[in-house]
Amino acid sequence: MNRSRLRRLTLPELPDCPDSGKRSFNSQADAMRLIQHLHRTSKRLTIPLRAYLCPACHFWHMTSRENAGKPRRHLPVPPAEARPPEEQA
Ligand SMILES: [Zn+2]
Repeated sequence: MNRSRLRRLTLPELPDCPDSGKRSFNSQADAMRLIQHLHRTSKRLTIPLRAYLCPACHFWHMTSRENAGKPRRHLPVPPAEARPPEEQA
C-alpha cells in the first residue's frame, strides 16, 4: 500500500488576516483543533496556546500570548470559558 501523503487536518482555506497576517479559522473549535494538533506534533518552541476572535477580520486566529503583561507559563490548552474575554494586544 502506498501512503504517499500524510493524513492532514482538513480545514477550509481562508484568507490570511489583513491586519495581523495570521492564519484564519472559521471557528474557535477549528483553531483549537489545530493548536492541540501542534502541541502533539510540533517541536517548535513557540506553539500557540489559544484562539481569539479577531476584531479586524472576524475570523479566529491562534496566539501564543497567554495574557499581555504576564509571564508565559507552559500550560496545556486552556479551556476558553475559564478565561475572561480579551483581545490580543
Ligand atoms: Zn484577523
